[in-house]
Amino acid sequence: MAVEKETPAQAQSAQTTSALNAPVLASPLQSGKAVVAPIKPLAIVLFGSPGSGKGTQSRYLVEWLHIPQISTGDMLRDHIRWGDEIGIGITDRMRAGSLVPDELVNELVRQRITEPDCDNGFILDGYPRTPAQAEEMMRLVAGRGADEVVIHLVVDYNVIISRMTGRRVCPKCGTLYNSVSRPPKIEGICDLDGTPLVVREDDREEVVRRRLVEYERQTQPLIDFFRATSKRLIEVDASYDKPEEVFRKIRTALENVSSR
Ligand code: ADP
Repeated sequence: MAVEKETPAQAQSAQTTSALNAPVLASPLQSGKAVVAPIKPLAIVLFGSPGSGKGTQSRYLVEWLHIPQISTGDMLRDHIRWGDEIGIGITDRMRAGSLVPDELVNELVRQRITEPDCDNGFILDGYPRTPAQAEEMMRLVAGRGADEVVIHLVVDYNVIISRMTGRRVCPKCGTLYNSVSRPPKIEGICDLDGTPLVVREDDREEVVRRRLVEYERQTQPLIDFFRATSKRLIEVDASYDKPEEVFRKIRTALENVSSR
């Protein structure tokens, strides 16, 4: 079936056409079907552990929906770069890898989502990180006239560990390989310059395990919070499928929630 082969880029172009056809009711999730009522903009929160493919899925979503991705990490790093009062106040915490105060991130997000590019929805990246932020997020999103949709990329940790620990990098040219998905022509050797490949410090098994445990510790209370409070929690198994297949599942689920 033609539909089965649709790529995210094709999905995007179908979307663009429908948005052009119905400018008044333009919603990111109209897919060329008859529009019966305006659909509220969506505030999409994406949770996925390191190695779950969260970055790829966010890119697909941005491409498809034409809505901005709002990363609190990027916003905070901007303030540090600008050297303003906020930046000076958070430098030490950011360097130490600890969270910055809830009130500060809540306020940054509140201001950011009032901007006009968020009128049709937005994707929140790295926020909320604590239950207090999650509660505030629900208020902010409702205040913006949007519906929250929480997407949880569920992965089997053993799969992630083998995926991440299978990564190799060329220490000379930086090319990345993966023993499963992108093996070099000769095992352990860079295709481009013949240099022996190495395992990056970040990809060593005990480091990967530690990051996953930390992610789980931080994220589980948030998932529990949304299970209890949100009507739109989408859990997608992202362990085995190709990224485009995972995206197809996300897309279908989003189309369903938006037409509820
Ligand atoms: P990473 O995924 O590597 O943690 P981020 O860019 O999401 O990267 O965040 C970088 C840092 O910014 C965090 O370690 C934390 O100090 C701060 N930060 C980002 N988002 C939040 C948030 N929602 N609440 C508190 N601190 C945050």
